[in-house]
Parts: sequence; structure tokens; C-alpha cells
Amino acid sequence: MNRFAEFNRFTNSPVANFKGELYSLPFNMYTFNKMWGVTTPEEAAAKIEEQRRAAGITEPRNLEEQAISLVGADIYEKLIKGYTQKQWGRPCDQLPAFIIKRLPVRLTFDNNYFNALYQGIPIGGYTKMVERMLDGIEVRLNVDYLANKAELDKLAERVVYTGPIDAYFGYCLGPLEYRSVRFETEVLDMPNFQGNAAVNYTDAETPWTRIIEHKWFEFGRDTQGNELPKTVISREYSSVWKPGDEPYYPVNDAKNSALYAKYKALADREAKVSFGGRLGEYKYYDMDQVIARALDEAKKSNK
Ligand SMILES: Cc1cc2nc3c(=O)[nH]c(=O)nc-3n(C[C@H](O)[C@H](O)[C@H](O)COP(=O)(O)OP(=O)(O)OC[C@H]3O[C@@H](n4cnc5c(N)ncnc54)[C@H](O)[C@@H]3O)c2cc1C
Repeated sequence: MNRFAEFNRFTNSPVANFKGELYSLPFNMYTFNKMWGVTTPEEAAAKIEEQRRAAGITEPRNLEEQAISLVGADIYEKLIKGYTQKQWGRPCDQLPAFIIKRLPVRLTFDNNYFNALYQGIPIGGYTKMVERMLDGIEVRLNVDYLANKAELDKLAERVVYTGPIDAYFGYCLGPLEYRSVRFETEVLDMPNFQGNAAVNYTDAETPWTRIIEHKWFEFGRDTQGNELPKTVISREYSSVWKPGDEPYYPVNDAKNSALYAKYKALADREAKVSFGGRLGEYKYYDMDQVIARALDEAKKSNK
């Protein structure tokens, strides 16, 4: 990707807002100090262990029990419960335990969300990066491949389809479920709304899951290095997906995974078409993962 963009040094360090109390994410020594006043890793580990033991959960039957058995009641109540409930639209004791397999706990003062060696945002934005990737390539916008399939298929030896796999087959086995997100974007006449790119609202009462303040992905400055007098924020509301909405997060539960497997079997019979990406494979991918996946697939099909 470095051929198409220069990346800045943005580091994702989200903040959690629980009813006005602010906590560092992911869970680390700053979080534990704020939560319990502990100052050493040993004290923090002991506190987590004490809470896990007090809960006495050996075989978690749902997400609530799973989370408490991993990190204890305080972190669960303030940082996981409300947020997860909003994300999935159901109380945590009605969600399956498998959604949370691990909850990484860092006994260091490290607010960096990712463990990746490199991290950054393309300078000038993703649109510029994608424009450079497409330089010299014919692009037709607002053309629905499925509505024009026969004609478009004639143009290509090989088709990479990145739309929803169930739509490709006319939903013949029924629709796959997704969670969707509604964004409410505002331009505010102030230079700094929340001092961070992402603030997650982890209580159940606040209707949005998080607020993104976009300027902090580029350190509050434009490409000439000027500070910006205004700011753009987006509130994100997690919502149920209905056919016609933009699908965002696949719901990889047993029912949908089984349905996807059936569509995948149909897809494997389409000799000329590769199904790729988060919708084509019904799988949540971060951008780096989806790029790696695309490169991998391209190598395989060029052999
Ligand atoms: C709310 C949200 C936040 C995210 N945040 C991050 C993040 O912070 N970091 C990160 O790394 N990743 C993040 N991601 C994930 C990232 O967006 C995906 O990894 C990436 O977009 C996947 O690329 P893709 O090509 O698989 O799918 P998409 O980007 O969805 O591309 C699929 C394309 O196919 C087109 N298409 C579909 N059907 C048709 C059709 N019938 N005809 C023509 N075109 C069609 C669509 O219009 C779309 O342009 C986030 C995702 C969401 C939903």
C-alpha cells in the first residue's frame, strides 16, 4: 500500500466514557488505576483475580458470564455490558458466550489499541489512496453488477465479486443477517470536541455506541499543517439490518454460519467468479486483513 499512499503515525487509543467517567482502552494499567486506584501490575492482577473468583463462574452460559469470568464484575459492568448490549441489540445474558473468546488485559501503561508493528492512516485520506490505485483503470460508478451481469460478464475472463454472497444467488436460500450502523454527522463550530478520534460510550443509556471526531486521525491539521477552527463528529448508532440497508457486520452465529456454508458451496461452482471481502465471504475483515486476503487470492489466481 506504500506505493499508493504515505501513512502517518496515527495510533488508535480509544477512550471509554461511562456516565461521564473516562477510562483508557484497551484495558490496561491506566484503566485499572482509574477503576480501583491500584498502582502496580501486581495489585491490578490481584484485583482482577479476586473479582473473577468472587463470581465463581466455571462454565459460562452466556456472554455476561463469559466476560465476568475473564475480567470480573467491575470492568464488565462499566466497560463491556452497555456497549455490547447496544452493539448486538440484546442484553448480554441473552448473547452467546462465544462472541467474547478473549479479553486482553494489559498490565502495562499502554493505550495503543493494536499490537501491529506498523499503524497509520494514509496522509490526505483513503479516497486519494484509492484514486491512485485506480489510476489508468476504467471505473464505472453506480452500476449494479447483478442487474447487468450478462453484459458485464462478457467483458471479463475473471470476475471478482465483492457484494453480498446471498444477493448474488438472489437470496434463494434466504437472507444472511447483518448488524448495521447509522451515522449522524455534525460540523461543530469549535476546534476540539472530544480531544480524541474515538470515544466509546459504554453505558446502556446513551443511545450511540461511539463518537468519532475525524480531525484527530490527522492530528487536527489540514494537509498544509494548518489547525482547523471547526470539527466534524459522527455519532454511531448500532442498528438491526433489514434488506435494503447497508450491511456492516456479519452475524457469525450457528444459524448464519450454516447458511453461509450453503451459499459458499454454490459459489465454489461458479468457475469464473471469485467471491471476496467482507460481504463476498460473510466475514468481518479489518482493512489490512482484507488487503492481505486480496493479494493472496490474486497470487493464487495468477498461477
Ligand atoms: C463501521 C465500520 C468501521 C470500520 N472500522 C475499521 C477500522 O477502523 N479499521 C479497519 O481496518 N477496518 C475497519 N472496518 C472494516 C473495513 O471497512 C473493511 O475491512 C473493508 O471495507 C472491506 O473491504 P471489502 O472490499 O471487503 O468491502 P467493501 O469496502 O464493502 O467493498 C465492497 C464493494 O462492493 C460494492 N458492491 C457490492 N455489491 C455490488 C454490486 N451488486 N454491484 C457493484 N458493486 C457492488 C460495494 O458498493 C462496495 O464498494 C470497519 C467497517 C465498518 C462497517
